[in-house]
Amino acid sequence: MKASPIFLLEIKRLAFAACSAIAWGAVTGDWRQALFVSMVVLLLLWGWQLARLYHWFSHPEEFPPIDGPGMGGLLHDVYVLRSRAIQASSSPQRSQPYLKESLASMREAALIISGSGKLLWCNEAAEYLLGVRFADEEGKRLTDVMSSPALAAYIEENNFQKPLRIQRGVESEACLQFEFSKFGADDRLVFVKDVTEQDKLERMRRDFVGNVSHELRTPLTVIKGYIETLQTLMPDSDSTLQTSLRVMDTQLVRMENLVSDLLWLSSIESIEGERKEGQIDMGALLSDLIHELTPAWPDRTLSLEVSTTQQILGDENELRSAVSNLIVNALKYGEDSPVVVKWIDSAVGPALLVEDKGLGIAAKHIPRLTERFYRVDKSRSQAIGGTGLGLAIVKHVAVSHEAKLFVDSELGRGSCFRLVFPSARVVTRPSRAGVEDHPLGLLQ
Ligand code: ADP
Repeated sequence: MKASPIFLLEIKRLAFAACSAIAWGAVTGDWRQALFVSMVVLLLLWGWQLARLYHWFSHPEEFPPIDGPGMGGLLHDVYVLRSRAIQASSSPQRSQPYLKESLASMREAALIISGSGKLLWCNEAAEYLLGVRFADEEGKRLTDVMSSPALAAYIEENNFQKPLRIQRGVESEACLQFEFSKFGADDRLVFVKDVTEQDKLERMRRDFVGNVSHELRTPLTVIKGYIETLQTLMPDSDSTLQTSLRVMDTQLVRMENLVSDLLWLSSIESIEGERKEGQIDMGALLSDLIHELTPAWPDRTLSLEVSTTQQILGDENELRSAVSNLIVNALKYGEDSPVVVKWIDSAVGPALLVEDKGLGIAAKHIPRLTERFYRVDKSRSQAIGGTGLGLAIVKHVAVSHEAKLFVDSELGRGSCFRLVFPSARVVTRPSRAGVEDHPLGLLQ
């Protein structure tokens, strides 16, 4: 074990005192008395340091004495650590009255709850919005005051990254949004908003898109049937009519793709807040998808590399659709290059990679790729049957699985789309070491 500098310094002091005593003893002839006096001086010095430390422990409000090297320096470090601990534990108490004063005058409903979920304080706006009287509810659990299983699960989970929306009651349409943030020692500051109107508008937009898409399905199927009948009845010699029917058929397929993507998007939006807890074997899912897609792209090389056995918690249909969109995009925009799909471990969690060496994407387009109907080259996308909704679906699925979507791409050199899942979604432990992850090209 290496001796600490403080210990060495004290040994030096001891040696110095002993040498001084011997020298004094040589002069006076009584070295024992000299040694005794110098030891007493040294002990008094140490005792004085300890007495100061003890005094400060009993009067922490006083300024700590600062001292030089050796034992004094050690004591000074103890003073500093203790002042920090006192400051940390006392600041929430000091900041709470100030915080309450500022929040009391706000129009937004604000509450303070303890780490165990007990109501410590709320402003008037919160009393009005939640229909409670603080005087009656103080100290009760927020979940007893509000009675909502979703709120109870949210507080229990202790992950406040996303706000929580809940309906006020079974019958009521009123919708409240809770935003939690941790502060102080272990308290939570909660802002509550009435988002009934916003929620209603979002639901109406979703329902409208879903209903229109649904209503369009039947007429499209009927028209498709007629086009096919006409194509068989029309003589091949009538090339003008045959060409017209072919164009009609192509446009109809586009509309059908659009309707089915819109329907799928609104259906995954409507179950956005639900927990996705199915156990998914991504290796098997990817292998299935590749077998399904290969016959449709016979001239292309589509390969799969699975280097982890990690399974994740999620929704199979959503994950299947996200991965299929990424692979089909790589085939569509990958020119003739091979497409490689990988399921690997990364530094932050398991990751899916879809790589191609095709067209690539200019940097200025990357931040907008996941917007609905955003296409880099609209006519090209339409010509190959794109709807402009594929990456919007992928992004949606990523968000609902707390995954992050990244894209590394260079114009003319190809693209790599990565879907990185959090380790919290992993079911089994990693089997092999993986690649380093870096947050380049994160799609917001
Ligand atoms: P689309 O139906 O048009 O393919 P997406 O939302 O799937 O719509 O993709 C949006 C746009 O992103 C596409 O129009 C295309 O320009 C670009 N894109 C997507 N994947 C790739 C890729 N692998 N290589 C190059 N460009 C891509």
